[in-house]
Amino acid sequence: MKRIAVLTSGGDAPGMNAAVRAVVRKAITEGMEVFGINYGYAGMVAGDIFPLDIASVGDKIARGGTFLYSARYPEFATREGQLAGIDQLKKHGIEGVVVIGGDGSYHGAMRLTEHGFPAVGIPGTIDNDIPGTDYTIGFDTAVNTALDAIDRLRDTATSHVRTFVVEVMGRGAGDIALWAGVAGGADDIIIPEHDFDIKEIMTRIEAGRKRGKKHTIIVLAEGVMGGQEFADKLKEAGNDTDTRVSILGHVQRGGMPTARDRVLASKFGAYAVELLKEGRGGLAVGIEKEELVAKDIIDTLTNHKHKADLSLYQLNADLSI
Ligand code: ATP
Repeated sequence: MKRIAVLTSGGDAPGMNAAVRAVVRKAITEGMEVFGINYGYAGMVAGDIFPLDIASVGDKIARGGTFLYSARYPEFATREGQLAGIDQLKKHGIEGVVVIGGDGSYHGAMRLTEHGFPAVGIPGTIDNDIPGTDYTIGFDTAVNTALDAIDRLRDTATSHVRTFVVEVMGRGAGDIALWAGVAGGADDIIIPEHDFDIKEIMTRIEAGRKRGKKHTIIVLAEGVMGGQEFADKLKEAGNDTDTRVSILGHVQRGGMPTARDRVLASKFGAYAVELLKEGRGGLAVGIEKEELVAKDIIDTLTNHKHKADLSLYQLNADLSI
């Protein structure tokens, strides 16, 4: 392959810029031409496609967000939308495309593949909820952002002898809550993948208070319920500690990517280019046990599901006694 394109799609994630940079620089190193597509699949269909050179990705590695912008474009779920996108790519002489995004974006890449157009997916989402990889770009940064907030909330919780319910992102996956919760020494972690018993949580809060504990931190994944709803449930169950809710929200999506996310993004970007150079499309790149992997994107999306590391749940329960 001689000419490829790259786009970012779906929810943005810190490290997407580092991945685009890696795609561009590796492609140029390999003697290929590389084009950027603005606004994800919306830009593909609209023909918002332009050449990228070495300098165009200069000074981007440390920046959060995505300089190629992102968009939600439901029309790409239709056959007409997909074929219109492929027409535009062909018009520009593009032979393969790198899609950086989450689950929905991967479905777009899968459709391109099914229509015979080579696409390679790079997992970019803070939620870490994509099958075929242990980690996604942006997850580590989001966890560290949530952890920083938890550490700060713990200070003020202790001063005022309060309980804090900290709502973190994660609609379907509890990964951010699990990692930030264990790292932040949470008393309880509430995630979609595991039931919770409000009475048990109350017993734990009361036991902590009896032994002189001043703060209680409960990390809640947004997919379970809202932070205030959870605080209300605690109250109904007899919680009479001063309880506050902190919803971290979109702050978790922004900011400078961590070293780990930048390295991961650089590895994924360079690997995706190597695959396309060999003419290999229809793949999802990932990292498993610290090794780069490339898996059939159709099989990955159809037959596999992301699983959160529930050993962290048990670990937290064992440590937050
Ligand atoms: P995140 O999970 O971080 O929000 P995402 O990639 O899952 O990221 P979505 O909004 O679900 O975000 O998907 C991004 C884009 O991918 C959509 O706006 C649409 O253009 C395309 N897309 C989503 N689902 C499909 C599908 N089934 N077929 C083709 N394209 C799709």
